[in-house]
Amino acid sequence: MSDIGVVQRNRHGQVQAAYLCQQLLAGLTDRRPRGVNRVMDENDAISAWCDGCESCLPANGNERNDRTEAYAQIKPVCRNCFDDFEGFDTLKEAN
Ligand SMILES: [Zn+2]
Ligand SMILES: [Zn+2]
Repeated sequence: MSDIGVVQRNRHGQVQAAYLCQQLLAGLTDRRPRGVNRVMDENDAISAWCDGCESCLPANGNERNDRTEAYAQIKPVCRNCFDDFEGFDTLKEAN
């Protein structure tokens, strides 16, 4: 499971990375919708986390802390893999 990012990068070559929590990473394999909360930074880099991680975030803004980091286990995948979510999950703008 932990090498899925490498496998997907091989399939799609070098494209921009998207950063996903571990639950969404699992979703790319089992294709079960978990809710996709995404933000895009000024460099068009995408970060996304599932509804479970979203409920873990503190109510006063989306500040990450050690606890949410440990739960989310953010990992990079390629942008094309991220686009796969459009086929089976719900994408929401997190900010
Ligand atoms: Zn998550
Ligand atoms: Zn890919």
